[in-house]
Amino acid sequence: MKEWDFETKAIHTGVHPELHLGATSVPIYQTSSFAYDTAESMEDVFSNKSFGYIYSRISNPTVNALEERINALESGAGAVAAASGMAAISAVVFSLAESGDEIIASESLFGGTLILFNSVLNRLGIKIRYINPNTPDTIADKISKKTKLIFIETIGNPRLDVPDLKKIAGISTQYNIPLVIDGTLTTPYMLKAGDYGAAVVIHSATKFISGYGSGIGGLIVDTGKYNWAGSDSNVLREAAGKYGSKNAFLYILHKQIIQNTGSCLAPFNAFLQLQGLETLSLRMEKHCSNALKLAEFFKKQPEVASVNYPGLKSSKYFTIAEKQFKDKFGSLLTIRLGSKERCYRFVNRLKLVKNLANLGDAKTLIIHPASTIYHDCTEEEMLNAGVYQDMLRISVGIENIQDIISDFILALEGLAK
Ligand SMILES: *Cc1c(COP(=O)(O)O)cnc(C)c1O
Repeated sequence: MKEWDFETKAIHTGVHPELHLGATSVPIYQTSSFAYDTAESMEDVFSNKSFGYIYSRISNPTVNALEERINALESGAGAVAAASGMAAISAVVFSLAESGDEIIASESLFGGTLILFNSVLNRLGIKIRYINPNTPDTIADKISKKTKLIFIETIGNPRLDVPDLKKIAGISTQYNIPLVIDGTLTTPYMLKAGDYGAAVVIHSATKFISGYGSGIGGLIVDTGKYNWAGSDSNVLREAAGKYGSKNAFLYILHKQIIQNTGSCLAPFNAFLQLQGLETLSLRMEKHCSNALKLAEFFKKQPEVASVNYPGLKSSKYFTIAEKQFKDKFGSLLTIRLGSKERCYRFVNRLKLVKNLANLGDAKTLIIHPASTIYHDCTEEEMLNAGVYQDMLRISVGIENIQDIISDFILALEGLAK
């Protein structure tokens, strides 16, 4: 039988009615623990002789269903859920690197990730070497014997640059370093990480996967493309020896890091994300088509100094984005209005569009990144991440596009005066 396509897997994988009294919507196992009839059967589960649930920090059936579904959508080797996107990124780094190691990261990163890397990881003795992902030829210069991973966003948030992933994966393969990508902005609907040679993909499930701004979550998928038995990391090689190369990373990630740092996903949030995934394909189509229309609208407005959207033919990332993301360009765009004061005036006139810190919501959202997400960053970090004082980031929702545009027309009228 032909494997199900994306839209079908998004609805049907992870659902096991036979295990849940016939329930076709995954039940929420809102329990911390699971009881056993006998001490012997509990020992068997603890020692991995038989399968069972013990405690929801270790595993939970609702969370497992979500892991199964995201893994199917990425065609991966296995997935692990985390409490948030940031928990997912931390867990991946802690699985692959330790004190004295180095990681190579794009300079064009989400603010939370930058702060994690520059403050927390730095303090733990993991050194970050930044690269411009759009000049892949310069990456090799930063690689050393201590490099344990390369970290890139599929679309830089909010620089909205689109790195050539095949080229970067080529370098990571040549040096045998796992490529870790943050696919939050593209979701598996726009880009399947394994097809581009990534070893691991991370999603902030808070965003498009939840879809309705209803809960925090993170997901990690091992694409199955990296041979952990041949890794430079002693921990991974040892785990490969014990559990097989295919399971090594997932084992360390889940059993050592997520479980013991307590960064597990809550069952109720897993349920919200399972529901979100069911409509991901429909929503992504609408997000992307609305964003393109809105970018084209802003392009024609004299009050808008510049518009950044990879789907505009004028964007230097148009060609690579078109190829990598199957003719879709995401829901994020940025505009520059000439000054921070004009940005604030613009935001304060909006009625429909919400001024808040999130993206990938059904609702259209706007934020002034320099004074919010990046307020703890230096001027240089902001410039590298493509953050300017006169820039606004818009996450285009799935409302009627004319209603979205009308709200922005009202805001623009406030600038003309
Ligand atoms: C939001 C976001 C994160 C962090 O995810 P949380 O769920 O907020 O912890 C990481 N990467 C990108 C690209 C994001 O947009």
